[in-house]
Amino acid sequence: MRTEEVDVVVAGGGTAGVIAGIAAARNGARTLLVERQRCLGGQFTAGSQGAWVGFSDKKNRIVDGIAWELRDLLHERNAIVDADPETDVCFLYDPEVAKVVLNEMLSREPLLTTYFNTSVIDVIVDGDTLTGVVIQSELEQVQVKAKVVIDSSGDASVATMAGAPFDIRVKKEIQPQTLIGRMAGVDLERVKQHYEENPPVNDHTVPPAWRDYRTFPGFMHYGLTDDLKNADLPPRLEYLRSWLAIFTSTPNPGEVTINCSGAIEADNISGFADRARQEIESQSCLYDVAEALRRFVPGFENAYLSVIASQLGVRESRRVVGEYKLTLDDFRAAREFEDSIGRAAMPAGAHTPDGVTMTVYDLPAGQSMQIPYRCLVPRNTDGLLIAGRCVSYEPPVANTIRNMAQCMVMGQAVGTAAALAVEHGTTPRKVDIPLLQATLREQGAIL
Ligand SMILES: Cc1cc2nc3c(=O)[nH]c(=O)nc-3n(C[C@H](O)[C@H](O)[C@H](O)COP(=O)(O)OP(=O)(O)OC[C@H]3O[C@@H](n4cnc5c(N)ncnc54)[C@H](O)[C@@H]3O)c2cc1C
Repeated sequence: MRTEEVDVVVAGGGTAGVIAGIAAARNGARTLLVERQRCLGGQFTAGSQGAWVGFSDKKNRIVDGIAWELRDLLHERNAIVDADPETDVCFLYDPEVAKVVLNEMLSREPLLTTYFNTSVIDVIVDGDTLTGVVIQSELEQVQVKAKVVIDSSGDASVATMAGAPFDIRVKKEIQPQTLIGRMAGVDLERVKQHYEENPPVNDHTVPPAWRDYRTFPGFMHYGLTDDLKNADLPPRLEYLRSWLAIFTSTPNPGEVTINCSGAIEADNISGFADRARQEIESQSCLYDVAEALRRFVPGFENAYLSVIASQLGVRESRRVVGEYKLTLDDFRAAREFEDSIGRAAMPAGAHTPDGVTMTVYDLPAGQSMQIPYRCLVPRNTDGLLIAGRCVSYEPPVANTIRNMAQCMVMGQAVGTAAALAVEHGTTPRKVDIPLLQATLREQGAIL
């Protein structure tokens, strides 16, 4: 097998990984970013997410750095809906434009190489230290030796292969998966008028903390309960009466993103048959929601399902056991940490496993929790850093830490830490925290 050598290899070029790759390369590390899909961005693009959440504490902006550069580039292309960029907790963006913008950002980094359509399939270990990965494209398998490996696979696949301990909840408790899609041909003015004339009464599956948000730009509606209350539904669609369906506008005229519950009791690390069930259930659920919108919500009469995301949205799977595990108490206390690498302020909590509602714990406006670097450092494995939704936290804190803005913040932190570890000939665990924090601040991060 052929061998390549780099300083840093990033496994997974998704929401967190793409930012990690840029950060590592900008800080002087020869970096390889390996992505199994045809585009970068993961859930941010291939997942067709559309609502990019976590930018402010409802009073002040808490995210800057590379995530903000990306936001500015999308803004230049009119691919973002915002109201007040300094206080919006969320931006509604175009995931297709985002794919192209991410490619452009990478092309500006001379130390960064990206392999698309390539999977990390194995790890190279020396005792408790990860020293590289094995990658597989259609053509060949290659050993990639690296001083630091970043696992940004979403599912902690690399950490697991390296033997790092992880937590995962049982299927009855895990958050549902959702396949996101988009509908075109929506008469949004008519939809808005409909909800103004018929203010939501039963669409109460959304907890108040979310309903009362005034810091979302664009149009957003939760639920179909009111619209389906007296509707004569075919048996196949009956289940939608109590389903959580969220639809948001996009920067494009007549287009909405649909984010609803799809596959429940689906943990993403099951066998082949289970994975197939999840895909099939999610696809038919998305189609059903689109059909219900078309039939029962004024303004959707001529709309059609235009995009089924190419990546199934996984809210939760493995979480690597790190040097520290973030807790709900940390969030509720808006805790500060000496090794902070960024901030999170969106309501903590999680989608309930039945897909019907969410548990929500919110902070007052102006407060946020810091994210400690130790959550990104696996407890037992050296040479490895983690970023994205598979970092170390307890499930009740999930919804504040796995947002895309926070995944990007973590990506910038691990990329920078990896480059510093290489430069100083140390391991990620022993990176000088004040130096890491100073470097992050110099490069725009808000700690
Ligand atoms: C249904 C749903 C709704 C959500 N709603 C919102 C929302 O409104 N706003 C918000 O901000 N966040 C939302 N989130 C959360 C957020 O989208 C995710 O938590 C976040 O995008 C995860 O980022 P990540 O980098 O960890 O994973 P991903 O973005 O999924 O990236 C992982 C990448 O790794 C790649 N990969 C995996 N394994 C390998 C391998 N072996 N080799 C090579 N590549 C590999 C994948 O292809 C993928 O590109 C939602 C999530 C879901 C699922």
